Amino acid sequence: MPGIAVIGAQWGDEGKGKIVDVLGPQAHFVVRYQGGANAGHTIVQSGRTFKLNLFPSGVLRDGVTSVLGDGMVIDPWKFREELSMVQAAGLNPRLLVSERAHLVLPHHKFVDGKGDFVGTTGKGIGPAYADRARRIGVRAGDLLDPDTLRERLQRLIEAKPNSTAGVGWTSVDRAFADMAEARETLRPFIADTGAMLRQALADGRNVLFEGAQATGLDLNYGTYPFVTSSHPTIGGVLVGAGVSHKHIHRVYGVVKAFTSRVGHGPFRTQVGGELEQRLRGDGSQPWDEFGTTTGRPRRVGWFDAPQVRYAVDVNGLDGLAMNKLDVLAGIDPVRIATGEDAGGNVVFEDLPGWADPRGAHTRAELPFEARGYIERIEALVGCPIVLIGTSQAREDTIGQVSWTD
Ligand code: IMP
Repeated sequence: MPGIAVIGAQWGDEGKGKIVDVLGPQAHFVVRYQGGANAGHTIVQSGRTFKLNLFPSGVLRDGVTSVLGDGMVIDPWKFREELSMVQAAGLNPRLLVSERAHLVLPHHKFVDGKGDFVGTTGKGIGPAYADRARRIGVRAGDLLDPDTLRERLQRLIEAKPNSTAGVGWTSVDRAFADMAEARETLRPFIADTGAMLRQALADGRNVLFEGAQATGLDLNYGTYPFVTSSHPTIGGVLVGAGVSHKHIHRVYGVVKAFTSRVGHGPFRTQVGGELEQRLRGDGSQPWDEFGTTTGRPRRVGWFDAPQVRYAVDVNGLDGLAMNKLDVLAGIDPVRIATGEDAGGNVVFEDLPGWADPRGAHTRAELPFEARGYIERIEALVGCPIVLIGTSQAREDTIGQVSWTD
């Protein structure tokens, strides 16, 4: 019954794709359990580049069923765009959409960003989750029955006359007509995905739960109020995919060898100047530190050990995958935040820098100082680093994780 969860341990964009690549070939299901089109990943396959926001990163793999789970908020028009993109490339992904997932509707995108102090991605995520909590949301399953959909739209327009009018939804007839394309697009994919996943796990299938965003952005456990509106942390898997904790066999966290954050909010190890440029890159490469969804330059800084230790504790992480060790190469010293002094100032530990680690296939082949950095972080955060990425290339990954670990 292996269910494995992969969760961001910092503030997002840690590079979950690499660990998903390692586990993907044996996965039967890859499941997103929270968030929506605020996430983003770039998949290069057969020389083609796909930029996806809604679909999980395992979506293009043969034999995998991708699930957009109960806890997600799904923009049907974005879904259609991504589906058309992969279909145009001759691919026919196996996709399922939870009947319980809520829909991101035009008025959500219309209001997202107005009066925003968080620096959201503007994709309507927060407003869609707010409507869910107010019990006026529209769920994917509501698209299956015209009468139910009309009733839901009526309730929504009555509860939110201003924002719905802002997108032209002045009557139920108009809103219903606008939903025609969404209904056509999503209908074939809608299912009781929770029931299917529970059965699959009981049957011993491999299910990979792929977190979007990260622990630091969790609505409850992140740096509130500078957070997203869902639960990327481990609890989010249970309420966002409809499975029991007994089905979660391993939980892996993903970190960068440094830290990045996009949007507002506390970031005590942030750096500026030349070092910032160096860690961020100039934007000429897809792996440079610019938001996948919004293109915004990410804030960057040193590795924050207590912050990651917190993610280890909150999620019960069994192992960490660390990406971008190569980006720190040539910087000397390299700093790790280890805590704060009585005055609230960040305390750093300085370690010697290292040369280019690319080409190393084992930990032992890494530069001595890079090994020291990794071992020090393992000790500080209390979790083994099981995968180490030494460049953006898939093959530049040291270590192994498997479904039977
Ligand atoms: P929202 O999720 O669009 O509501 O944005 C809330 C906060 O989460 C903002 O600070 C965003 O920049 C951040 N955020 C949302 N999605 C991602 C992501 O995939 N990576 C990094 N930050 C994200």
